This record gives sequence, structure tokens and C-alpha cells, in this order.
Amino acid sequence: MAGAPDPIDPARRPAYASGAMSDASRFDALCVHAGADIPGLDMATPPISPPIFQSSVFETPDLAVLHRAMNGEPGAYVYSRHANPTVAAFEAAVAALEDAETAVATASGMGAITATLLSRLKAGDGVVTTSALYGNTRQLLDAYLAPLGVAVHHLTAEAIVAEGVPPGTRIVFTEPISNPLLVVADVPRLAEAAHAVGARLVVDNTFATPFHCRPLALGADVVVHSATKYLGGHGDLVAGVAAGAAALVEPIRRAARVLGANGAPFEAWLALRGLRTLHLRMARHADNAARVAAFLADHPKVRAVHYPGLPGHPTHAAARRILERGFGGMVTFELAAGEADGRAAFERFLGGLATIPFAASLADVGTMLSHPATTSHRDLLAAERMALGIGEGLVRLSCGIEAADDIVADLARGLAEV
Ligand SMILES: *Cc1c(COP(=O)(O)O)cnc(C)c1O
Repeated sequence: MAGAPDPIDPARRPAYASGAMSDASRFDALCVHAGADIPGLDMATPPISPPIFQSSVFETPDLAVLHRAMNGEPGAYVYSRHANPTVAAFEAAVAALEDAETAVATASGMGAITATLLSRLKAGDGVVTTSALYGNTRQLLDAYLAPLGVAVHHLTAEAIVAEGVPPGTRIVFTEPISNPLLVVADVPRLAEAAHAVGARLVVDNTFATPFHCRPLALGADVVVHSATKYLGGHGDLVAGVAAGAAALVEPIRRAARVLGANGAPFEAWLALRGLRTLHLRMARHADNAARVAAFLADHPKVRAVHYPGLPGHPTHAAARRILERGFGGMVTFELAAGEADGRAAFERFLGGLATIPFAASLADVGTMLSHPATTSHRDLLAAERMALGIGEGLVRLSCGIEAADDIVADLARGLAEV
């Protein structure tokens, strides 16, 4: 919890905060406990679970407190677009889980990404991304920042590592597990390539979560999340967060404030509640994904399985280097059908399922599936989609935490109709 507000007497501080436990035990303990102490909440009998401060404005006792709040010091609150106690508790928890000095919560994952990019970029600066990005991140860069004069380059991770990034690049942006083909990025080498030209590496850790990957420990500078996904985990909130060193995150906090992309207390409370079981959920998501991938890999109605835990996956070696405790909860696969028949095959598959819903999100406790060709990648031309390897028969499965046998049984029902 380096740098995070810590009102507890160090002598009383539990072992999980001091690093005296194994890495996995410490992480699991932080999931359960981090963020329990609300910065600035001064009570003799503090609540075990942080309350929701559903308040937009706070009384300012004197100008000294006002100055502290305006300078963004922890524990001083004036107005909830700037800081809010419940939001601060969630931020402290994510900072602890990501091994970051500090964090800022935002209204959504896109809010975190927008504030992060705008905190650092001006006309003439360059951004380099790895090619397979979340669709709205790509749209933010291409449709909003490029017209303002930001030079946007989409390169493959291999090209960035082999050839470096152009001078003038201020940010390199990547996702450790890409959507939808689950390509694993070599975060340490991307960090080296970014730092070689004085750029910062920003990592969208939404798919991996700190359970599987701690990008800051691998050399990244800022981690962003859609907390809507695994951090929240229950399909009941939209929120985001950015974490890293204070020197980088404080400008993001100021940008989020001015952009109105700040986090909200109820969402922060739900997200913090979600974090309490992150380690249990991620372990189960990952176990179920491994079971499902093995089942699909042997199925005659499946042409290919994209899952970084399979030895045949193109980035399996990188996955073994940068991911811990499994390979995430996502499995993407191609139905055995020609491209001309891909959509019809998908519809037959969907018609055969009894329990798994088609839903354009991921990372909930319940298994759900999506069809990238008509959802996340629908705005691309068919040829562009195909060049990315996203055909009409491609299915992205977000494995939930049900019994693996139940997920496999429903997939078998769907595949019987293909
Ligand atoms: C969902 C998602 C986002 C955007 O998050 P929102 O909370 O929907 O704004 C960004 N990156 C990735 C990888 C996502 O899956």
C-alpha cells in the first residue's frame, strides 16, 4: 500500500499490508481487506465495511482544509466531483491490489482511458498502440484524438518490440490479453520499447485483472481498468480506475475532475464489494476456462480455440511469462463452418443453448457469450474484420463461476445444432 493513506498505527498493521506473506496469500488478503479504512474518517468505532457517502458537498471548516482538499490531499473532501470518501476507499483498494502508489476511480473504463490519455497528450504528440484494442479505445484515438493533432499509430506488439516506437511518442498503449483473440502482450518488452524514447506504457488490465497480471511490477507506468468487468464482477455497475505512481496519476485525477469523468460513491461501494471476492472468482473463472478450452479443442464442430493456456496458442509462451495463477476466464472459438455460413452457424449454435445468454459484455459471475463480428467489431468492413481474424463463426465466451460441467453441457447442446 505504498503511499496510500494509512491511518492505522504501523504496530497494529496486519501482516498482509507489510508484505510478510506469500505473494498469493497477500493478494487474497488484500482483496478481502484493502480499502477498509476510509481516508479522513475519524471514528472511535469505525465500520468494518465502508459506508456509502451519497453526498455531493462537504462543509469546509477552515481555509487550511479547503487548501488540502483543493490540492488533492487524501482525507479532505469538499465536493464529490473532486473526491469522495467511498470513492477514495475503492481507489485505495485498487492501488493496493495493483501495487500502485495511488489510484483514481472514474465513471467508466472509457472515463479512465480518456482521462489518462488527455492528462499527457497535446497536438503533435504520438500514441502507439498494439493493434488489437477494445473498440471504443480505438475509436477514441482515431475519431477524437487524431483530428485534434495527436499522431496515432497502431502497430503489432512484435513490430514495437523489434523496431521500437517512433520518436515523439508519449504513450504506448496495450492490453495484456486482447479482445477477442486473447493475444498476450509481452508487457516487459513493450515497457522497454516505450521507455527507450521517453514514452510511458499504459496497460488496460481489464481482462487479466491484478489476480493474473500486475503490469506495474512488469515495467508499465499506468494501469487502467473497466471496473464494470471483473473488478466489479456482478454486472451491476459501470466504473473505471487508473493506478500508478502519484506523479502520473495526479494529473489523471485532475483531468477526470475537469472532464466530469469522476467515480461515483454508489458505484465505488459496489465495486469495492466486488473486490472482496476477486481472488475466488478469478480462480474459478480461470479453472472453468481451462476446462471449457480443453472440451472445445477436441470438439469436431469447433475449428479453432483461442485460449492463451493452450500450448498451441500463438502467445502461449508470453502468457506463461506474464500471467500468474491461470490464463483468465475468457475463451474464444471458431465454429466449424465456412465464412459464408458463419453467421447461420452462430445462430444455430445460439438456438441450441439452454442456459448461456448472448450478452455484449463479459466478466460477470454468470457465463455469457458474444459474437464479435456483430458487436465489438461490427463497424469494420468485412475485409478489415477478416484481416484481424474475426469471422462470422467466431464466438467469445466469458466463463462464469458455475460448475464447469454445466457450462460444458450447455456448449455441447449448442454445438450439436451447428
Ligand atoms: C469494457 C472495456 C472497456 C470500457 O469500459 P467501460 O466501463 O465500458 O467504459 C475498456 N477496455 C476493455 C478491455 C473493456 O473490456
